[in-house]
Amino acid sequence: MPDNLQVISHPLVQHKLSLMRKKSTSTQSFRTLIREVGTLLAYEVTKDLPLIYEEIETPLMKMDAPFLEGKKLCLVSILRAGNGLLDGFMELLPSARVGHIGLYRDPETLVAVEYYMKLPDLINQRLVLALDPMLATGHSSAAAVTRLKENGAENIRFVCLLAAPEGIEYFNKVHPDVPIFVAAIDEKLNDHAYILPGLGDAGDRIFGTK
Ligand code: URA
Repeated sequence: MPDNLQVISHPLVQHKLSLMRKKSTSTQSFRTLIREVGTLLAYEVTKDLPLIYEEIETPLMKMDAPFLEGKKLCLVSILRAGNGLLDGFMELLPSARVGHIGLYRDPETLVAVEYYMKLPDLINQRLVLALDPMLATGHSSAAAVTRLKENGAENIRFVCLLAAPEGIEYFNKVHPDVPIFVAAIDEKLNDHAYILPGLGDAGDRIFGTK
């Protein structure tokens, strides 16, 4: 496994992920769980952010208090399943800027084609957290990160819930400079590029589509 891959094995994350995997879990519960897991992942992914000290006054005295350094973070949802994680990230990082990227796979060429992109300004000065719950083949995630780099992002972390070994290998080959944060690494992909054992189609489970 690559050095810059971090598995977030916190028991709360693992427990909630197991509930999400169950096919009997309702859309409503799945949504609640992915938001909660998003919050927990956000906590872990930001644990090394640099701090600066500024003088403040408490009701009792002055002190040098720590604050996050630098520009506000940028969260990027890779549509559409990224929106499920985005809610939890926004809850913990309420002043983060938010971008969206939509890609679809051309059925003939199999190339990822962008159909939507909106990013905040000064993306080159921000830590960018790219969110996509499922790192399956890695093709669309890697293509989305390529687009972020083409738009100036220099400091990117990729956050997902589940990854297949094939996806990790591909993503890491294309973007060795981008750390991957994942809640669990599953066994493999099936013939339709679904992660096994997985949790099914993340977008369908979040939005109740089929
Ligand atoms: N995307 C999903 O939503 N689920 C998978 O298993 C693979 C890709």
